[in-house]
Amino acid sequence: MVIIIDDAFMVCTDCLMIIANDDASGLDYSLGEEEAGAWEREIRGAIAEIQRQVGQIAVGDGDRDDEFSSSPCACCGIRLAGWRHHCVILGSGREH
Ligand SMILES: [Zn+2]
Repeated sequence: MVIIIDDAFMVCTDCLMIIANDDASGLDYSLGEEEAGAWEREIRGAIAEIQRQVGQIAVGDGDRDDEFSSSPCACCGIRLAGWRHHCVILGSGREH
């Protein structure tokens, strides 16, 4: 049984790209190659940590995206105001 652990896991565009498509190519536009690589590792690390400790991150409902939010990204913690995309965290219903 799959349950929703967190039904409002709001993430920035960079995190969404990696969560949804496992694609970090879009990160490069404003950063140098080295910075983009370091940033990508940081996001992937944050995602891996959440998947290990909480559950599987899944893309949520686009209608619940926040076009302009100043809340930090729930995944990487970036504080830059901007899009926050709705995701959910899924887990199995059994106790660990
Ligand atoms: Zn993020």
